[in-house]
Amino acid sequence: MADTPLKCVIIGSGPAGYTAAIYAARANLEPVLFTGMEPGGQLMTTTDVENFPGYPDGVTGPEMMEDFRKQAERFGTTIRYELISKVDFSGPVHRLWTEGGEEIQAYTVIISTGASAKYLGLESEQRLLNKGVSACAVCDGFFFKGKEVAVVGGGDTAAEEATYLAKLCPKVHLLVRRDEMRASKIMQQRVFHTPNIIVHWNTEAEEILGEDAVEGVRVVNNKTGEKKVLPVEGFFVAIGHKPNTDIFKDWLDMDETGYIKTKCDSTATNVEGVFAAGDAQDKVYRQAVTAAGTGCMAALEAERYLVEKELI
Ligand code: NDP
Repeated sequence: MADTPLKCVIIGSGPAGYTAAIYAARANLEPVLFTGMEPGGQLMTTTDVENFPGYPDGVTGPEMMEDFRKQAERFGTTIRYELISKVDFSGPVHRLWTEGGEEIQAYTVIISTGASAKYLGLESEQRLLNKGVSACAVCDGFFFKGKEVAVVGGGDTAAEEATYLAKLCPKVHLLVRRDEMRASKIMQQRVFHTPNIIVHWNTEAEEILGEDAVEGVRVVNNKTGEKKVLPVEGFFVAIGHKPNTDIFKDWLDMDETGYIKTKCDSTATNVEGVFAAGDAQDKVYRQAVTAAGTGCMAALEAERYLVEKELI
């Protein structure tokens, strides 16, 4: 494969990657999509998705990603269940290597490697994931309408998730491990002015209680050692995300946390012919539908690039 550069390689198989593949395939770019380690991406660990347009009765994350994959394949996308582990973006032809060591060359590359939510690392947290433990209030908050919930974190995400949940839930416990929040002042003010958000300072979750559903959380005050159980049915982890962009850091401009920088109103990166879509470049919206939107943009921009360079 190393002798004939592909027109378009897509790395990642979430909504951004598959949408890019649908558009690229329909534009005759014969895309090859590398799924990465978790085909389907973050949605594979989600249960019901009710906010993606076109599914009036809702759909599970895995079913939706299966639909995306089938649609991408229907127009001729080649899907390879492999990981790209190294890239070289120094030349006009981009070079990529699979984990098995095979070299791939491509004129355009669409990076849609997504991000991974960070978790606390508690055994009970993993066991109750999707059974009351979630890392996305906008995705799952609705299922906790009328119930008492907890949010962990002190950044903008935690503040945003807590205020979002406060509209649905009678009581939202915000667990902040220090005596101050990292969130922007305006977000903090919003938290402090929402009467049903109770901020627990210097507080860490020790164990999430329950067998098949969350029945409470045992927290500890890390200054006094005092422990108590909060009677919550939902536990939202909002301690940040990590974009899956490590292999690109020698080549692409990124912010300090590893999100790929793209040009204004575009998915173009600092390297010609390399585009970034979805959560790998978006730390604000992080929704399946916005990821799909930028995947579409990336494929249209890749096609335009190939035409301009007379490569197709
Ligand atoms: P941040 O890294 O900003 O904050 C993470 C928070 O989680 C911190 O308060 C941190 O505590 C806490 N934390 C980390 N690990 C643990 C742990 N093991 N136990 C308990 N608490 C922990 O992540 P965010 O996702 O909040 O934000 C990421 C970026 O995205 C920021 O730049 C933010 O401004 C931006 N963003 C912007 C939004 C907007 O503009 N609407 C919305 C959401 C995010 P500590 O402070 O002690 O380190």
